[in-house]
Amino acid sequence: MPTIDYLRISLIDRCNFQCQYCMPEGADLQYVRQQDWLTRHELRQLLEQVFIPLGFSRFRLTGGEPLVRPDVVEIVEDIAHLPGTQDLAMTTNAFLLSKLASALWQAGLRRLNISLDSLDPTVFQQIVGGPGRSRWHQVWAGIQAAHQIGFSPLKLNVVVIPGVNDHEVLDLAALTLDRQWHVRFIEFMPIGNDSLFQDRGWVDSATLRQRIRERWGLEAGHVLGNGPADVFQIPGAQGTLGFISQMSECFCDRCNRMRLSADGWLRPCLLNETGQLDLKTPLRQGQSLVDLKAQVEQLLAAKPDINFKMRESGTTGAYSRTMSQIGG
Ligand code: SAM
Ligand code: SF4
Repeated sequence: MPTIDYLRISLIDRCNFQCQYCMPEGADLQYVRQQDWLTRHELRQLLEQVFIPLGFSRFRLTGGEPLVRPDVVEIVEDIAHLPGTQDLAMTTNAFLLSKLASALWQAGLRRLNISLDSLDPTVFQQIVGGPGRSRWHQVWAGIQAAHQIGFSPLKLNVVVIPGVNDHEVLDLAALTLDRQWHVRFIEFMPIGNDSLFQDRGWVDSATLRQRIRERWGLEAGHVLGNGPADVFQIPGAQGTLGFISQMSECFCDRCNRMRLSADGWLRPCLLNETGQLDLKTPLRQGQSLVDLKAQVEQLLAAKPDINFKMRESGTTGAYSRTMSQIGG
């Protein structure tokens, strides 16, 4: 069993994009009210007095879109400076990044994963929604800003959807030829997007690797981070390629993470609500952090069994909640 030392913290469940695969149009999303977000102070208390003493040392900020949260820079600063923090990263769509990259760096953030599903502004706009083709350009400017400031390794996440962006796989892989970037192809999951998934289906990582291998060859690679990606490299390329294959190869037995939602629910598994624990309500009712720590410790002890059951049942079922609600 892996050591469970990695917490993904959703700062907000809202987003400035509406990606087809994550927040499909017409989805009836009930957003968490702002007064129900864990505050900066509560987050700090929970990390300092519950999670870090239980062995958590690696944190990733996500959402929804974490950069939409007004106090994101201050939260980064708090977490980056906790003595128990060994690694702090963020997953973002980068729409607000050119404005915020420098402040985030100064606050102590060093690693970024950025979603970039297309190199074509028109396709990109079709995927993320909203008006015009300018969104891609603003995201690209955010990526360039992060690169220039020194965020490393810079990881780009691509969810591959047949008939939407699968024709761009080689172009996206080619970004790694002369840049030290890490492009990660993520298998499309049926989470809160039933009709798109049924219409389009999904492409498995082995098929993508074969396409890349036929074009350039492919060898084993290495990249810093705690992710579940299998890492490869085009021979001679500066960057690397990752494949996240949660649909074709269940990696529940390797899972080293828990998730904390914007409103303070701790979840031991992305796809399974077993055992999830409300931390915010007891915290606000004055329950001691020592008690909360004991409850989280119990959940940690139950996680191997939850992982085992997920592995047995498989990860390909349809799920009612979206990634933006869970904190992908
Ligand atoms: N808004 C940020 C972003 O897009 O990077 C962070 C939150 S987003 C929910 C986190 C990751 O989940 C993104 O890389 C996104 O591509 C991925 N994701 C969302 N829905 C997905 C799905 N149905 N299948 C696979 N990955 C998904
Ligand atoms: Fe927003 Fe990220 Fe979901 Fe796209 S994938 S809708 S950017 S939360």
